[in-house]
Amino acid sequence: MNWPGKMIQAVLESLFKKPATVNYPFDRSGMPKGFRGRIKFEPDKCIGCKLCEKDCPSNAITIKKLGEKQYEADINLGKCIYCGQCVDSCVKKALELTNEFELAQLDPERLVIVVKGAPPAPEKSPPPPPAAPQAKAPPQN
Ligand code: SF4
Ligand code: SF4
Repeated sequence: MNWPGKMIQAVLESLFKKPATVNYPFDRSGMPKGFRGRIKFEPDKCIGCKLCEKDCPSNAITIKKLGEKQYEADINLGKCIYCGQCVDSCVKKALELTNEFELAQLDPERLVIVVKGAPPAPEKSPPPPPAAPQAKAPPQN
C-alpha cells in the first residue's frame, strides 16, 4: 500500500486549490440561494388574515390588530424553526425570509421581535374656501 505517497499528493494538490470555506466574519457574502434566516414582516402589506399564525407549526408568530388597517407581528425567533411556512402562506407577501443568521442572544426575551405598522395617514381635508374680497374704503377729501 502506498498511502504516504497518496497523502502527500493530496496535501500538495490542496495547496493550490481554492478554499471551500469563506473568511467569516469578514466575508458574509456566501449565503446560498433560498437560505432561510430571520423572518421579516412588512406591516403595510398585511391584511390581518392570520393565515401565517394558523399555519405556523411552532406557534412562533402572532398577528395583532392595532387599529384600522394597522397590524403588529410578534415573532419569537427562539421558537421559530425557520421552515418558511408563514412566508408561503402569506397571500400579500408581507413576510419574507432573509439571509440574517446571527441571531444568538443571552437574554431569551430579546429573541421576541415586535414589528408594528404605522397608523394610516389621516384623510386630507378639503382646502378652505378663498377669502371674500374686502371692500375698499371710500376716498377721503
Ligand atoms: S398571512 Fe400575511 S397578510 Fe395574513 S396576517 Fe400573516 S402577514 Fe398578515
Ligand atoms: S418560519 Fe416556520 S416556524 Fe418560523 S414563524 Fe414562520 S411558520 Fe413559524
